[in-house]
Amino acid sequence: MQRLQAFKYELRPDGQQQRQMRRFAGSCRFVYNQALALQKARYEQGEKKLGYAGLCKELTAWRNGSETLWLKDAPVHPLQQTLKDLERAYSNFFAKRADFPRFKKKGQSDSFRYPDPNQIKLDQANSRLFLPKLGWLRFRQSREVLGAVRNVTVSLSGGKWFVSIQTEREVEQLSPQSATAVGIDMGIARFATLSDGTFLEPLNSFKRHETALRKAQQFMSRKVKFSNNWKKAKARVQRLHSRIGNTRRDYLHKATTTISQNHAMVCIEDLQVRNMSKSAAGTTEQSGRNVRAKSGLNKAILDQGWFEFRRQLDYKLAWNGGYLIAVPPQNTSRTCPACGHVSKDSRPTQARFGCVGCGFEENADLVGAINVLRAGHARFACEVSGAVMPPAAGTRRGESAYLG
Ligand SMILES: [Zn+2]
Repeated sequence: MQRLQAFKYELRPDGQQQRQMRRFAGSCRFVYNQALALQKARYEQGEKKLGYAGLCKELTAWRNGSETLWLKDAPVHPLQQTLKDLERAYSNFFAKRADFPRFKKKGQSDSFRYPDPNQIKLDQANSRLFLPKLGWLRFRQSREVLGAVRNVTVSLSGGKWFVSIQTEREVEQLSPQSATAVGIDMGIARFATLSDGTFLEPLNSFKRHETALRKAQQFMSRKVKFSNNWKKAKARVQRLHSRIGNTRRDYLHKATTTISQNHAMVCIEDLQVRNMSKSAAGTTEQSGRNVRAKSGLNKAILDQGWFEFRRQLDYKLAWNGGYLIAVPPQNTSRTCPACGHVSKDSRPTQARFGCVGCGFEENADLVGAINVLRAGHARFACEVSGAVMPPAAGTRRGESAYLG
């Protein structure tokens, strides 16, 4: 099977390269915002949205325009890629996967991508990489890059520059080392409960750093904007943000690696994470009600990275020859695993399950995990027998996988 994988390293640019990269990221942001403004204006005038080719023509005009001549200093391919990103943002919006595309601000995901492998040179022996208009860049090579280079993304995070090298290679399709199946219930008190009785502690990486982050933000707000002290305070806020992200990523990678190595089939509830987080805002008719509790829950969901957990499980299982099966969440928390009785009264508290039919008692998250496993087995049986099943959402294979 073809494996797409990204290898990410910290760059060690010299001063000139840092200035250039900041300029290129700025040019890409400018092009993205120009294109978004153009699309919005066309929409307001009742005109059709421009396609990628149409946007590229506009880009050529901007690069030749007398007011934006500086765009010519940036490499052209990354500028075009930013137009592709805008296209993707629109299609995610139309497919209801994301909000309407927003204008980019400086300091928010500053990055640019080189799509053409013929213009990229990787010299692993000397830990350096050649990129158009930047020349040879040194990077901290913590591990070997495997496979043929497909594209390269340069990004700025917490004041440091990183490079993500995406590669493609042929790997042998493994058969799973284990034949067991497991169901997983995702929760707040426990990040994940497995049907074999084990569970993962909540991550709470954000909560732990929350106080430090809030203090740093307050400290920054008291400084005179754009002063030297303000810049220092801002750098601290950015460092805390990237530390939170790193802690979360490490935790999720360890958990998903262990689970995907120990089981051939993993069943998980098909929760719409995005819908759950969206409901916190409330509608005008029901504003106020439960909004506070919900926003707490939603924040926790996002904090825990459920979506990322599932994405990683999916590709790691595929690498190990296993499967991820998403099952509809109906009644998984109110069905008795002993007698099959379904009642919401069997769930007296968030943590306990006590069947009103037969008296069976167990931890509610474990009951959920057992029911998810059963539903997964049923779904798998249907797929094997050839019955027509709608594909489970979010389990696309071959999606690129990112390793830190
Ligand atoms: Zn029962």
